[in-house]
Amino acid sequence: MAGHNDNFINRERMLRDFTDIISIDSPSLKERKMAAALRAKLESEGFAVYEDGAGEITGGECGNLIAVLPASDGLNSTECGRDACVSEGGGERGDGAGGGCGALPVVALLAHMDTVGPCENKRWTVEGDIIRSDGNTILGGDDAAGIVATLEIARRVKEDNIRHGGILIIYTIAEEIGLDGAKNLDHALIRSALGGDAAKAYKSVGKDNSNATESDGDDGAVANGDSGAVGGGFPQFCFVFDSGGPPGSVVNRAPSHTDIIITVKGAAAHAGIAPEKGINAIATLSDAIAHMPLGRIDEETTANIGIIRGGDARNVVCESATAEGEARSQNKQSLITQVAAMKSCVADACERRGATFEFKEITSYNAFSLTDNDLVIKLLTAAAKNRGSVLKLVPTGGGSDANILNAMGIPAANLPIGMYEVHSTREYTNLRETSETVELVVEAFRLLASQFS
Ligand SMILES: [Zn+2]
Repeated sequence: MAGHNDNFINRERMLRDFTDIISIDSPSLKERKMAAALRAKLESEGFAVYEDGAGEITGGECGNLIAVLPASDGLNSTECGRDACVSEGGGERGDGAGGGCGALPVVALLAHMDTVGPCENKRWTVEGDIIRSDGNTILGGDDAAGIVATLEIARRVKEDNIRHGGILIIYTIAEEIGLDGAKNLDHALIRSALGGDAAKAYKSVGKDNSNATESDGDDGAVANGDSGAVGGGFPQFCFVFDSGGPPGSVVNRAPSHTDIIITVKGAAAHAGIAPEKGINAIATLSDAIAHMPLGRIDEETTANIGIIRGGDARNVVCESATAEGEARSQNKQSLITQVAAMKSCVADACERRGATFEFKEITSYNAFSLTDNDLVIKLLTAAAKNRGSVLKLVPTGGGSDANILNAMGIPAANLPIGMYEVHSTREYTNLRETSETVELVVEAFRLLASQFS
């Protein structure tokens, strides 16, 4: 939605960040250079930066970056033994009267560091607010625009003196190859980083309650074995910056996703001399697929076979053939039903033709759904209203790191950041729109702070 208050604050600063980022090649699992550059940017903004072990697990050059900016007043919601004083502290105005400590909750901002290819030696043009690939590579606005948004939000919150709880920035690796960085995010490191944050914050503001901090471990309410520091503590919610299109909406629903690999085994035979001795795996697999419910199954469910392979020679009855596909649904039960239906088509075809099969199901990620009752949606809706627009809640058929964060128990809403034609050499980013999303989230921070004043 254009037309409302859209003065573009700090255009030069955001453009510099953006071009710094896209000038680095950062294909999935080769994010080391990007991570080093982003670490420097985060540290210069006052973040303590950690790297987890996701790189070793996924075979990448580096892990996810986990960065913590201490709460502005040194209070940390982990101090009172709750993850979230805002929701427990007393309804609309969690000012502590309801029993909370008055600390603001930890808020997470997330973007991914990797890009799809081709991404080597990117060149681009800047026309007004539009940065566009020269057509030989992708631009990398997916997800450079998201990273720029996180940096700019942190700066704006500080510059505007908005009171805030701990700000956790997560930059993931390997998002584009199956959310692999987020899937291997080190929860314990996040907890201990936030615990360390609390301890440090107390020191940095010179409050004389180091004893209280130390003894806080006693209650053990959310004790975290991995960190000897303060109690546990997790972000109350997360803004993910990895959705396409213009600002004005938020992705609040995404499907569960199961990958499927089918292998059919028949029997090889000479196609000219003894075809009756063979069982054709290609024909059997085709038979199975021809009977499968595919495409849009219902409003919430889709299914596809996208790859088929098999056979070695024209004159041999094919012995083995493989198909790969997927199914997605907003509804867990519908997904189970759909995958079972696909499997029974394979079983039936194999029975008809005397073949055998293997049917592998791999859960890629789980669905999520956020509503007006979730604080992150409430804040964004109110922030949009304050800025003169109406926030639209939109479902998506795709998955993102938001699916993984939601599965971790951190409500995560995916925001559009003005990126277009992503995963193509026509990719461009409208940085003014990125900026509008920044303003929306800064307003959400303002509203969150006002709930505690
Ligand atoms: Zn992305």
